[in-house]
Parts: sequence; C-alpha cells; structure tokens
Amino acid sequence: MPRFDADYVPRSAMAIYAHPDDIEFTVAGTVAKWTEAGCEVTFVLITSGNAGTHDRKFTRKSLARAREREVRESARILGVSRVVFLGHDDCELVPTLALRKELVRRIRRHRPEVVLCNDPQALFFDDRYVNHPDHLAAGKAALEAAFPCAEMELLWPALGPPHKVHAVYVSSTPAPNTWVDVAATVETKIAALSAHRTQLGERDIAPLILGWAMDEARRSPPRKGGGKRGARRPEFAEAFRVMRLLREE
Ligand SMILES: [Zn+2]
Repeated sequence: MPRFDADYVPRSAMAIYAHPDDIEFTVAGTVAKWTEAGCEVTFVLITSGNAGTHDRKFTRKSLARAREREVRESARILGVSRVVFLGHDDCELVPTLALRKELVRRIRRHRPEVVLCNDPQALFFDDRYVNHPDHLAAGKAALEAAFPCAEMELLWPALGPPHKVHAVYVSSTPAPNTWVDVAATVETKIAALSAHRTQLGERDIAPLILGWAMDEARRSPPRKGGGKRGARRPEFAEAFRVMRLLREE
C-alpha cells in the first residue's frame, strides 16, 4: 500500500484540466518528476482553449488547433505520451452530469492510480486574480468523477469496469497538505510552458514560475534528513491538497 507523501511516485496518473496550459502553470514540475521515475501520465484537456486570445488573426477553430499542437509539444517535453482532448468550448465549461460521465469513461479506460485536478473552491488568489470559471468547473467535475463515480460498480456500466483511484492531488489550493520537491524539474516545467506561444508570445515566464516555486518551498514544513542541520526545505516546490482515497498503512 503506498504512502502519499512528498516522495511518492504513482505508477500512473491522469491530469484533468480545463485549458491546454493549465497543467504547465500548476503541476508540470511534479509531472516531469513522476515521468522521469517511470510513471505513465495522461493529460485530459476538457477544452482546447478556443477563446484564449485577443489576437484577431485566429478563429476559434484555428486557435484550438494551434493550442493542441502546443500542448502536444509540451507533453513531449514532460515525458507524457497520451493527450486526450474532449473538445468543449473555452469559457463555457459547467460541471454537468454529462461532463462527469465523460471523465468517468476516461478514468475507467486508462485506470490511473492518481488523478490531478484544480481545487474547485479556490475562487480568489490574493487580491489580483479571480479564478477562471472553467478551472473551477473542471476541478469539480474531475473530483466527482474520481470519487465516487469511477469506482461504483452499479453506476454507468457502459462506461467501463469500475476503477478505484488511490489519491487525488488537488492543485492551486488554499489548503495544501503536501509539497513536492521540484528543484530537479522546474526548468523542464518552464520549457514545457514556453511551448504555449499563443499564450506567452515572447514573454519570459521563468521569473514568475521560479518565484511561485520558491514561495511554495518556503511554505513547506521542514523535512528530516537534511544532513548536519537535521531538517531542510526544498529549493522549489509545488503544493497540493492530497486526498487519500485508499487507506494507507
Ligand atoms: Zn486556464
């Protein structure tokens, strides 16, 4: 039985997010760390971000295609072999029963040990960012699909055999309980994010990402095994609220 601590690496994981760059902004350091250790990761992108620009040269269709290409490149950089696009419209996402069923179908098909998703309760960050409604909707639908729906034998048998997700890693949360050390992969995260050229243009995103990862590392509790001083914090971290759906030993 696994322990879902900061050193845990699942055998398989599914990241369910609203937009093609959401995973890169939030959890890509953890994803890269896990794939390097042999974890098979699937990205499920509920929309292809087809409203996400102020650049009039795009149509919704051409923007979706461009952003799908960007996330495929990013996935390659992160060692992720499977990217699933559900094709919903950007800025219109609602956590309906139909969406929950779509996600249960994907969970039952690919059978991830861990699901990663956004915190559906995180409406405000500081006084500068109101969370995108699609992020909240995606997080809510993903949580509902991971638990309890995917594991219920009598529920929706046509969507595949039931599957028990062991843990959900909830990102962008005001109530984290686990900090993953991403010092070895934060540069890979920045490289993956930089593939999203329709979103970043020529902007150098590294200072923002490094700053966030340093802030999270400072917030993390000191860990044992730091040599002479006895305890240490990582230099860079990503924070999660880990919900343990499987009993640990
Ligand atoms: Zn987004």
